[in-house]
Amino acid sequence: MTIAQTISAATSARSLRVGVIGTGMIGRDHTRRLAQVLAGATVAGLYDYSAEAAAAVQAELAPDAAVFATGEALIASPEVDAVLVTSPGFTHEAYVLAAIAAGKPCFCEKPLATTAEGARRIVEAEAAHGTRLVQVGFMRRYDAGYRMLKEVVDSRIGQPLMVHAAHRNPSVPDQYVTPMAIHDTLIHEIDVFRWLLDDDYVSAQVIFPRKSSNAHDKVADPQIVLLETAKGIRIDVEVFVNCRYGYDIQCQVVGEDGLANLPEPMSITMRKDAALSNPILTDWKDRFVASYDVELQDWIQAALAGTASGPSAWDGYAAAITSDACVAAQESGEIVRIDLPARPALYA
Ligand code: NAP
Repeated sequence: MTIAQTISAATSARSLRVGVIGTGMIGRDHTRRLAQVLAGATVAGLYDYSAEAAAAVQAELAPDAAVFATGEALIASPEVDAVLVTSPGFTHEAYVLAAIAAGKPCFCEKPLATTAEGARRIVEAEAAHGTRLVQVGFMRRYDAGYRMLKEVVDSRIGQPLMVHAAHRNPSVPDQYVTPMAIHDTLIHEIDVFRWLLDDDYVSAQVIFPRKSSNAHDKVADPQIVLLETAKGIRIDVEVFVNCRYGYDIQCQVVGEDGLANLPEPMSITMRKDAALSNPILTDWKDRFVASYDVELQDWIQAALAGTASGPSAWDGYAAAITSDACVAAQESGEIVRIDLPARPALYA
């Protein structure tokens, strides 16, 4: 379905009354999308640990929304049809489980849970419920460039053999430590490659090149993560979070019959002073801003039908297991096996 068809279908349906839990940076931005950009939804409820943060978002973006005293009260409210969880990662599991228990569709920003065990509990609860209710915020699957790349990988370059990728940030704050290169940064590659290649991981290894003098004491930077899939595809991802020059996402898939690259973001090519140049983005929010709109519109559409689409709780669980393996590989320097349990029929 095209975005226009999706919007038109959503417009003709009733409005989804969404409750937002966590009105910080991304919660505020998603509330803006629901209130001002997307079709088919209204913001009916807000909750934040900080009552001032919720009140500020209510005043600015959703004057008709009720501000709830707890996230649990928001989830239970008959005025709320569906729940958007944008609070910090450690709070996600409890809110998503409560939404499943209430039978309400739930969009959960990544991570689905901060432990693989927590993600497994969500998968089990949803499987027991019997229909999908959970979508995880892996927005790269909705990025136009990745979608073009997937179409080519699926049909034009033969069997994929290798992926060469990079995730580079200009710099990171002092509280960013080595495991965050996996949990906060690589997590998006972990999900998008499973989707791009229609495959699962079987092993991970992390190697550390010479450390950049721009990296602070508590982060080993750069890192190279090596992933192997069940089909035998080898993936190398450079994670370099103090690269200085910009926010740069690269992905090249090498197939039997050809090679495909993720398109660069659209930019002005300039000829000036005897130089040919293109600007490079510096903020991750600018790189994927359009994909957030598409992912939430897709969620609204599925939630109006009482279900979920896109990245599932199972995908969130697979990402959590893979992240844990990558962190274990960082610590040990060894190749770490990745064993996914049998996939429940709900996620076939
Ligand atoms: P943030 O700016 O810190 O916002 C989180 C908000 O939740 C804060 O207002 C915080 O209040 C509040 N909060 C804390 N504990 C809570 C609780 N128990 N219940 C409800 N609200 C609570 O964080 P953020 O950057 O928006 O990130 C939120 C989540 O989105 C994270 O899981 C993050 O990984 C994810 N995220 C995903 C993407 C993506 O690309 N998909 C991008 C950004 C963020 P206090 O400040 O008072 O603690």
